[in-house]
Amino acid sequence: MNIANVIVDVPASSINQTFDYKIPDKYVDILASGMRVIVPFGPRKVMGYVVSRSSESDFTKLKYIADVLDLTPILTSELLHLGKWLAEETLSLYVTAYQAMLPQVLKAQYEKDLVKQTDELSSNELEFLFAGMDRIPYSLFEGSTIPYAQLQKAIQDGEIMIHYLVKSKETKKKVTMVRSLLPVHQLEEKILDIPNNAKRQLELIQFFIEHQTKVELNTLLQQLQAPRSTITKLVEKNIIETYKEEVYRNPFDDTSIEPTEALSLTEQQQQAITPIYDTVEKGAHEVFLLHGVTGSGKTEVYLQAIQGVIEKGQEAIVLVPEIALTPQMVKRFKGRFGSNVAVLHSALSAGEKYDEWRRIHRKEVKVVVGARSAVFAPFENIGIIIIDEEHETSYKQEDQPRYHARDVAIKRGQHHQCPVILGSATPTLESYARAQKGVYKLATLDKRTNEKEMPNVEIIDMRKELHAGNRSMFSRELKEKIEERISRDEQIVLLLNRRGYSTFVMCRDCGHVNECPHCDIALTYHKNSNQLKCHYCSYEEPMPTICPECSSNLIRYFGTGTERVEEALTKLIPQASIIRMDVDTTRRKGAHEKLLNQFATKQANILLGTQMIAKGLDFENVTLVGVLTADSMLHLPDFRSSEKTFQLLTQVSGRAGRHDLPGEVIVQTYTPDHYSIELASVYDFQSFYQKEMAIRKTFQYPPFVFLALITVSHKNQVTTVQTTQRIVQLLLKHVSNETTILGPTPSPITRVKDRYRYQCMIKYKKEPQLRMLIKKILRQFDDEVRKNDLMITVDMQPYQLM
Ligand code: ADP
Ligand code: ZN
Ligand code: ZN
Repeated sequence: MNIANVIVDVPASSINQTFDYKIPDKYVDILASGMRVIVPFGPRKVMGYVVSRSSESDFTKLKYIADVLDLTPILTSELLHLGKWLAEETLSLYVTAYQAMLPQVLKAQYEKDLVKQTDELSSNELEFLFAGMDRIPYSLFEGSTIPYAQLQKAIQDGEIMIHYLVKSKETKKKVTMVRSLLPVHQLEEKILDIPNNAKRQLELIQFFIEHQTKVELNTLLQQLQAPRSTITKLVEKNIIETYKEEVYRNPFDDTSIEPTEALSLTEQQQQAITPIYDTVEKGAHEVFLLHGVTGSGKTEVYLQAIQGVIEKGQEAIVLVPEIALTPQMVKRFKGRFGSNVAVLHSALSAGEKYDEWRRIHRKEVKVVVGARSAVFAPFENIGIIIIDEEHETSYKQEDQPRYHARDVAIKRGQHHQCPVILGSATPTLESYARAQKGVYKLATLDKRTNEKEMPNVEIIDMRKELHAGNRSMFSRELKEKIEERISRDEQIVLLLNRRGYSTFVMCRDCGHVNECPHCDIALTYHKNSNQLKCHYCSYEEPMPTICPECSSNLIRYFGTGTERVEEALTKLIPQASIIRMDVDTTRRKGAHEKLLNQFATKQANILLGTQMIAKGLDFENVTLVGVLTADSMLHLPDFRSSEKTFQLLTQVSGRAGRHDLPGEVIVQTYTPDHYSIELASVYDFQSFYQKEMAIRKTFQYPPFVFLALITVSHKNQVTTVQTTQRIVQLLLKHVSNETTILGPTPSPITRVKDRYRYQCMIKYKKEPQLRMLIKKILRQFDDEVRKNDLMITVDMQPYQLM
């Protein structure tokens, strides 16, 4: 078995296979699948993942592995298989799939250090190598004659840790820790030896009798109100010892988190959790759809299910949409499971993410709470996987590998034989249909735990406002209600449903709209910088003062950006203080949190924002929620636009009246009769589901068919169309009669960054060879892709149809 089969980090479809390398003697004992290596590849050296070892190869003249990057595998055998499956399922490269599973730090080659974790290493040779230091460069070890197996063992035993030197501004923090050197009964004996007047010393020993843990020196001294000398004395008596420990950079301040206890479940919660417990108990795989209105206590169900899993000695993964992964949310998990929780959040720095990942990898935690990619957490004994707000489209990754976290969760659930819970107040049609068919088990929570009614929703017809002479973006009713809340010192959340809307510039004389010269899209006006910007390619130009078309000076900006709403609102209700939350105000790290905190501490009456305010927020004092433009999403060229509108309105309505004060919701719209708006206003998911399913059936959309989207892009329009046409022809030749191929059609945004985009949509019910077929077709274009700057992307589960 001295040959390693390696997936190399060369992102090209012609290289998408394993390559064989000979293993140098010094690595033979330690090299295992799931480790990263450096291998010669052509004239270069590249990184690669060892996926297996073998004793024979079909090739002669194999090259040797140049270097081994990990001494413990960073991908488990389950993840190695999962990556292979993922690549095949999404038509991506194997290497791309593996990289998607790992934190950024492990995707590149970094310098590394060896860090001692104990005072004395078992291996004399290693002890000698460290020569009294805590930390040495890895290269020192490589230059020595010590066998790799010895270092590997020291790492496995926790005596040494590898540390990657990530270039970042944060420095590692070390603190002094204290721990007892004696077991409890010996401590009790020692107490007798200490004179009675040495009160502090007695207290300190008593502390370690009661708490058999390590503790931070400063915390201990503070808690016992003791001077440092007390510690010194007990150290001299060989009762306790002090040592340095690296503290993980913790971006969430945990110190203020109060521990919480399991609540006694409502009858509905009990009914929902029982079959989940049973499945955990049996060690079986099952997918549960937990359909619960906002405030029905879904999170409590998750927490208690996880509790059961931990008691069984297993681990839990919880996925939460990025924007709902707020400190409030994290608190609920840390409150229940304390330091057993790792959080993977995209706002963490690369170093912080790696720290959290390492805690999972080393089995220091039992629960991971994170956004999409946390589904790849390297646990080996998973007992439950939970996806909260399962309808969120952020669970779908929009670049390679284009996977949906739900599919990955189910795949892992099958492997680990554990339940997968999909939770939502507004499940996707796909999931709900599967629950109806019995593929998933349905559990319903239709009451709020506090027995409060859902807030009343009033629909305002903005056409009538216009007829009545009100040309502002606020209806008279909304204005009145905002003023009323402000006078009562209550708070208001205003949602600007901006997707598909922006502030564009138009000439009032000739109607000319300023568009990006590289993309087929109107430029967006940014007030702060007085610039026009393209949101697709970041092109920008100064705001013109005269129309480039007719030279009129009546050029104005239109639309309803958040800045504009804020401005109008301040004019209309001067006494209002507003916190605006959108991509612009939340770009800086921590800004999101800060704004929410300002609102929570009542530093403003109104929280105004885009989609990002619709989720997970829970403010006691909010009694009015206003949706300014409910229908702005409805007219997008996307068959899911009604579903998304229904989901958003339901979510945002759930923000009001969650506590003692009753809540109210105002929805402004130009299409008050649209079923998604009407049915959301009465919280009627069932009717919405029936209605929308009927439409999907008529027009043949998911869940009645599967979709695949192929997008071709090139600088030359004719090339783009012709290539798409050729793909369509090739597909038509091989698919069954029941399958529909639509295209070539221009993508809704036909030109981005000077590249034309055409697409072809495949609608199919059963096409077992489809992936194979597309792969074959793509291969025919390999040359053109490489030489002629052609781009072809395939999405086997498209959500973004733009
Ligand atoms: P969801 O996740 O469905 O929106 P939450 O889990 O946030 O609902 O629950 C809403 C509120 O009800 C929270 O404040 C939570 O603490 C409380 N809650 C949940 N379950 C119970 C229970 N069994 N008894 C009392 N309060 C509960
Ligand atoms: Zn003009
Ligand atoms: Zn552009």
